[in-house]
Amino acid sequence: MEKIILTGDRPTGRLHVGHYVGSLRRRVQLQNSGEFDKIFIMVADAQALTDNFENPEKVRQNIIEVALDYLSCGLDPAKSTLFIQSQIPELTELTFFYSNLVTVSRLQRNPTVKTEIKMRNFETSIPVGFFTYPISQAADITAFKATCVPVGEDQLPMIEQTREIVRKFNSIYGEVLVEPDVLLPDNQACMRLPGIDGKQKMSKSLGNCIYLSDTEADVRTKVMSMYTDPTHIQITDPGHVEGNCVFTYLDAFSNNGHFEEYLPDYHNLDELKEHYTRGGLGDVKIKKFLNNVLQEELAPIRARRAEFEKDIPMVYDILKRGSEVAREHAAATMAEVKSAMKINYFDDAELIRMQSEKYHKVED
Ligand code: ATP
Ligand code: MG
Repeated sequence: MEKIILTGDRPTGRLHVGHYVGSLRRRVQLQNSGEFDKIFIMVADAQALTDNFENPEKVRQNIIEVALDYLSCGLDPAKSTLFIQSQIPELTELTFFYSNLVTVSRLQRNPTVKTEIKMRNFETSIPVGFFTYPISQAADITAFKATCVPVGEDQLPMIEQTREIVRKFNSIYGEVLVEPDVLLPDNQACMRLPGIDGKQKMSKSLGNCIYLSDTEADVRTKVMSMYTDPTHIQITDPGHVEGNCVFTYLDAFSNNGHFEEYLPDYHNLDELKEHYTRGGLGDVKIKKFLNNVLQEELAPIRARRAEFEKDIPMVYDILKRGSEVAREHAAATMAEVKSAMKINYFDDAELIRMQSEKYHKVED
């Protein structure tokens, strides 16, 4: 079986370091590993509209931002197909047919949808489009027969929902769809990177982000204002590393090489944590270290972005050509789905012959 990746992001803002450690960094590694036959990366504008339908301009403006973030992180249009969800009508078509296979109560049980409904104050009145976006996500994944979906932890219930739809579809209509596997980050801190406020996951909609395109000065300011440990008041006080943003980010970003370069008093993160927990290590020192680590990771991304920003029409062209390629693949799956669901009337010569025989017999 071919190894195929499908994943994507909502164009609701520029991408942040949560996306980077949760999915983007891994995508680039997978792309460059050469282990995959096809890679599809989607700007999920139709999904973004399910909770931003009153603000189409926001979605429109952010398509290019997400595409620039992709390219600057190293997604390469020669190796990965970058496309825009709404340009593939087959995805909406599949969503409609899959809706028959999902119950309202099953959608209501989806923990991510539950949290997101609360976050958006949709409790009293949920737009149907938003409520059913897990079905549309199943359409996105299965249209490309993806075997692997690299995403952050919040997407687990979506992939589970997709797998259920695949099993149900195949059991009713025959083996057409492929059950995808989720690929989560291997490090706990990367599964759900918290925002700089330390409260919830870093999310475009919550305004607690360090963006991949932030300037060097912005990143420094954000790091220096980061939530740490409110009980760690004097340097000599013992500190907590759990729930301390700076340490969570160091878990996600730092390696032993960084210590050698920027903080040679310590060999590794365990030693740093141990000192902080014991007391005698100030927040400014650990924040300065984190800033160095982040700047090292983000500087090349920022530089590549500046290059791509010089030719915006070319970036749109990459998306246009990617959307054409993606559409061909989705259309091929759609044809199989229609045939399995017996809605391929006009290209079924056998059907037409049998129906006409039936009526000829009546006449005879
Ligand atoms: P929105 O607020 O519009 O939902 P978002 O910041 O949650 O935006 P998405 O576009 O929904 O971003 O998510 C894209 C991908 O990034 C998903 O795979 C998701 O799991 C991952 N991701 C998003 N935020 C984080 C995070 N804080 N930590 C790890 N992964 C994340
Ligand atoms: Mg999200």
